[in-house]
Amino acid sequence: MTIFEKIINKEISAHIIYEDEDFIAFNDNNPLAPVHILVIPKMRSEDVQDITSYDLSKLQNLFEIIKNIAIKYGVDKTGYRILTNVGDDAGQTIKHMHFHILGGKKLGKPC
Ligand code: 5GP
Repeated sequence: MTIFEKIINKEISAHIIYEDEDFIAFNDNNPLAPVHILVIPKMRSEDVQDITSYDLSKLQNLFEIIKNIAIKYGVDKTGYRILTNVGDDAGQTIKHMHFHILGGKKLGKPC
């Protein structure tokens, strides 16, 4: 079980800022920007390569949720980055699909 599944199951704590049946969002505990929030689909998928057509129906609200979080944290007008890592070359450390929302400062190029 990954650490994100433990957060989903409330076995370990996180600063949760949004939750519904299919998603949970919380502050990254090692923030790379003033706003660094992780949005996690609760369904078990290792990364976006792992998405099935069944999963796609569960993901339909993802960008709506991200958009609302960006508004809530005041980065919708200034700009922000949505980032998801896939596999080792991208530096994915937690093998449960997740989307970073990064903002609140001018962001450098990722590579
Ligand atoms: P990845 O590198 O896999 O795309 O991103 C994993 C992210 O999860 C990292 O930015 C890391 O700081 C964050 N993270 C890892 N463990 C925890 C944790 O226990 N709690 C929280 N809130 N974030 C975590």
